[in-house]
Amino acid sequence: MKIQFCKRCLYSTDHPLGLTINDKGICSGCEIHEEKDTLDWELRFKKLEAIVEPYRNLKGENYDCIVPVSGANDSYFIVNIVKNKLGLNPLLVTYNKYFNTPLGIKNLSNLRIQFNCDIIYQNVNPISVKKITRKAFREYGNIYWPILAGQTVFPVQTAVRFKIPLIIWGAHQGLEQVGMFSHEHEVEMTRRYRKDHDLFNHDEGNIISIHDDLQKKDIGQYQYPTDLDLNKNKIRGIYLGNYIRWDPKAQHEEMINEFGYLTSKFNRTFDCYDHVDCYNYMNLHDLLKLYKHGYSKVTDHATREIRHGRLSREEGIDLVKKYELNDPEYINLFLDWLGIEEKGLNFILDQFRNEKYWNKLAPRKWEFNGWSTKNNILKKINSTSSIKFKSNNNLNYHNKLSRYITFGKGYP
Ligand SMILES: [Zn+2]
Repeated sequence: MKIQFCKRCLYSTDHPLGLTINDKGICSGCEIHEEKDTLDWELRFKKLEAIVEPYRNLKGENYDCIVPVSGANDSYFIVNIVKNKLGLNPLLVTYNKYFNTPLGIKNLSNLRIQFNCDIIYQNVNPISVKKITRKAFREYGNIYWPILAGQTVFPVQTAVRFKIPLIIWGAHQGLEQVGMFSHEHEVEMTRRYRKDHDLFNHDEGNIISIHDDLQKKDIGQYQYPTDLDLNKNKIRGIYLGNYIRWDPKAQHEEMINEFGYLTSKFNRTFDCYDHVDCYNYMNLHDLLKLYKHGYSKVTDHATREIRHGRLSREEGIDLVKKYELNDPEYINLFLDWLGIEEKGLNFILDQFRNEKYWNKLAPRKWEFNGWSTKNNILKKINSTSSIKFKSNNNLNYHNKLSRYITFGKGYP
């Protein structure tokens, strides 16, 4: 089937989450995005207040809800809504993604101090993490599998263990990117979405095979609770994006100003706010996305900004062209940890180049024919966008202040 591009944003019918294009040439993601300007958000916030009300632990014997957090993304915004706007007492949970940047560690430490919350960390043993990473990289071309699996499972396990039935997430990716649901569907967390989309159809149930050294005990920490456990404890996960007009750029800027959220520049995108807590996400992981899917995070960022009306389609295309083929950084950190050489890394990387988007010219020589160049649909135009993102630090932000340590006292 011929790839069809949306006339408004930079996504096509080839988007891995799946999207449709209507008879006006507009994609389902853009159509659902229009709801952001038509829905009554005051009314929707009241709805959210009514939903969380029964979960308030009035006796003070337990937390009211669980909030999954990290040292980046929308964590500050979500905790601010939950704690300060809804007046709930959350238990924050975080999964150690290993490749934490000093900047992200500071952001996470500052988060628990600024909002004065309890937090628990899931820190899976290094041998299992390494085995899983090696396997997921080799077989699925995905170095992020253990992180995506851990981040989506640890909050649910904690909800069961601590008998805290409400989990509050930020935005739903399927809704935000491709308009898989309407905001009014008020879609909630499911095991199925996690497996099919968050984990690209490979969950802990099928990552083990008889051909490698990965064993059941290595994936125990990634096991999603059983339906029996979920039902018995009435566990439910809701998404704030269904009740609040989601705008990551504006939200991050509010958090920078009010709570000292730190941001950083990247080599492969113009957005300085997302994923500043990880060395790999915007680097090796993003390169793999380009190899496999023919587009990378900068296209997601540009599309988001086009939909919010802060970039024209032409300016978005220009930004994609400027960043998508840039080199990833910090590759050596990953090589050293996994114990492989650059040659081995490139060998595996090349196996995941999708020939739909990459022409092989000679051994080790490829030409990008991807998402943004296909049929010249996205032609390079020289426009200069005036969009501004604030980068206030370096990923390797030097931790000079002893109050910002992960396992420390915390000074309110
Ligand atoms: Zn679109």
